[in-house]
Amino acid sequence: MSKIMNAYNYSEEEKKLIKSISKESDIWSLDEIIDLKKEIRNFYRKEQKILCAYCRNPVSLVYPDNCHVEHIAPKSLYPEYIFVSKNLCVICADCNKIKRNQETIDKVPDTIKKKLKTKYPDKSEHFNIVHPHFDNYDDHIHIENGFYIDKASKKGNFTIGACLLNRKFLFMGWEPQTVNNTEMINKITKIYKEPKQDKRDDMLQKIIKELS
Ligand SMILES: [Zn+2]
Repeated sequence: MSKIMNAYNYSEEEKKLIKSISKESDIWSLDEIIDLKKEIRNFYRKEQKILCAYCRNPVSLVYPDNCHVEHIAPKSLYPEYIFVSKNLCVICADCNKIKRNQETIDKVPDTIKKKLKTKYPDKSEHFNIVHPHFDNYDDHIHIENGFYIDKASKKGNFTIGACLLNRKFLFMGWEPQTVNNTEMINKITKIYKEPKQDKRDDMLQKIIKELS
């Protein structure tokens, strides 16, 4: 899956609106920007072909609750990037609930940090996370039978962890640390590929032993 090709373009009117509220606190919750948020949501919903940027499951078409406007660098840590188009995308309710305020900007040297202070980091390597505007998802994460496997990519690994993408295992009673154990998930995926039932059973038994 490719990255987002177009970022939201603010109209002159919207730019004025943003400027007029810039000194307010809790900007994102203001009634004045309800329509703007709707525009942004609809724009990225289309750009992303109705898929969540992190788990690639469908986001809702009409109802906003399963189509959140996401701040890739969290707005609580980086209020200066709150309206930066390349910091925005849409994600599903589960990814939104899980990712929350986790840091996504990688540790960058102080010299770059100074430059970045006002300017949004615009390179893939500035981020820990698979950035929907700068990274091709498929280069970092492979989805097979609903399992998320990092392609030996640090960013892939970080994203799977930050959004707990293999979260369905939690419902099977797995511990969160096991759900985030990429090696284990890789082994489980291999079971799905094995065509012979007895071999599948053997593989499963081995994993159960390892987990107990
Ligand atoms: Zn999601």
